[in-house]
Amino acid sequence: MTATAAPTVKLFLDGKPVESTTTEWRDVINPATQEVLARVPFATPEEVERAVASAKASFKSWKKTPIGARARIFLKYQQLIRENMKELAAILTAEQGKTLPDAEGDVFRGLEVVEHAAGIGNLQLGELANNVAGGVDTFTILQPIGVCAGITPFNFPAMIPLWMFPMAIATGNTFVLKPSEQDPMVTMRLVELAHEAGVPPGVLNVIHGGPDVVNAICDHPDIKAVSFVGSTRVGTHVYNRASLAGKRVQCMMGAKNHAVVLPDANKEQTLNALAGAAFGAAGQRCMAVSVAVLVGEASGWIPDLVAKARTLKVSGGTENGTDVGPLVSCAALDRVSGLIERGVKEGATLELDGRNPQVPGYDKGNFVGPTVFSGVTPDMTIYREEIFGPVLCIVSVKTFDEAIELINANPNGNGTALFTRSGAAARHFKEEIDVGQVGINVPIPVPVPLFSFTGSRGSKLGDLGPYGKQVVQFYTQTKTVTERWFDENEVGGAVNTTINLK
Ligand code: NAD
Repeated sequence: MTATAAPTVKLFLDGKPVESTTTEWRDVINPATQEVLARVPFATPEEVERAVASAKASFKSWKKTPIGARARIFLKYQQLIRENMKELAAILTAEQGKTLPDAEGDVFRGLEVVEHAAGIGNLQLGELANNVAGGVDTFTILQPIGVCAGITPFNFPAMIPLWMFPMAIATGNTFVLKPSEQDPMVTMRLVELAHEAGVPPGVLNVIHGGPDVVNAICDHPDIKAVSFVGSTRVGTHVYNRASLAGKRVQCMMGAKNHAVVLPDANKEQTLNALAGAAFGAAGQRCMAVSVAVLVGEASGWIPDLVAKARTLKVSGGTENGTDVGPLVSCAALDRVSGLIERGVKEGATLELDGRNPQVPGYDKGNFVGPTVFSGVTPDMTIYREEIFGPVLCIVSVKTFDEAIELINANPNGNGTALFTRSGAAARHFKEEIDVGQVGINVPIPVPVPLFSFTGSRGSKLGDLGPYGKQVVQFYTQTKTVTERWFDENEVGGAVNTTINLK
């Protein structure tokens, strides 16, 4: 924690930016230059309390707001996000590092969820069964559950907050958001725009902080549901702690995504897809391809893949033509460099070493260039750990089924992909693979919001995914109503003390 003259990031309480009274601050740093952009507060317990109280109070009226009125806010919100796209992307690149076009992609994938939230009238419909017994009907209503909270990671500071609060609010809940302390600025701009679009004061509150604030969210009796996206270690803690406190919890967590390449695949398209998915966003995507499993003769493609990786430009995210920007922090740089070192020590072949690249004009940036290891085996640290950097591990196997076995034995289940021209192979893969999101000739198969994000096994805790149909269930309680209206002229029968058998 340092004291500098940089501007402070505000909390957002009761519809207004609020300066924190905390004594604990952290710098928000441009990872390409080390410039301190702002200081972010670690909110005090009283400030957390105020955020939850504000959300609780506003729930009383917000839950009664007509569905059309809620939808219209999100129609306006999507327009404001579009109008401010360039500004949002610039803030995001400055604090997170990814390239400007990729930052626009980050905002855009969140925008799609906002568009979906604007269709809430069609999404939050109940069901009705007529005449379930003589003169009796049963129907369901999907009611909001109250104050919900979101805890987000650094790698998608626009998209992931937008996975959470628009759908929570559109379904009639109120929200407390705790963004990543590493890059909270674009999230704050999105929160301001949400208020400009008409989100009423108190419906969306923001507190910043680290473990203490997260634990306070997990424990708070007035918070009914928690959505978390981040690492497996922290997500597991949040799931256990918040579940113990009786909350509904969904945690989307770490990954090790394998792309299987069959020798019949279109070589050029496959190599382009692999390089883009492994090194884009400097490998800091939860759906990045971090392991390429080359089957049989496809192992002969390693030199071409390395040649492709070499062509990528490493530089500041604001520079034209940059493919690979910096890692988010000096700590991330040390960690990724250490893992590369470990890979060498444990016997993998370093085909391309991206450490210490020369990046003119950015000598202080946290850069690692595309790095490729071949001869990787499942016991190696670089295979077992999520590196979260631009490092691709290549595992060579003899058969397709060996590739499937390898993936199914990995504890993670976020995403996987198969590259092939064979429909039969694709069908076999779709049936047998035990991973929640499968791409066929699509390297990063993140579903659009008509569906839900469906990571599985070690990459997820909780049944329901973020956005799409599943999240409507997550943010609502289904109530069934069974009703009967007596006809005034109906003759009353006798008292019945048995279960009706008809
Ligand atoms: P992280 O787990 O370090 O941080 C996530 C959130 O938890 C942040 O808001 C942070 O402040 C908070 N936090 C950090 N340490 C904590 C602690 N000890 N106790 C309580 N809270 C704590 O994750 P990150 O480094 O910001 O993000 C990268 C990770 O997120 C990767 O593992 C990536 O795979 C994962 N991720 C997963 C998905 C997905 O959908 N599955 C999407 C994006 C990122």
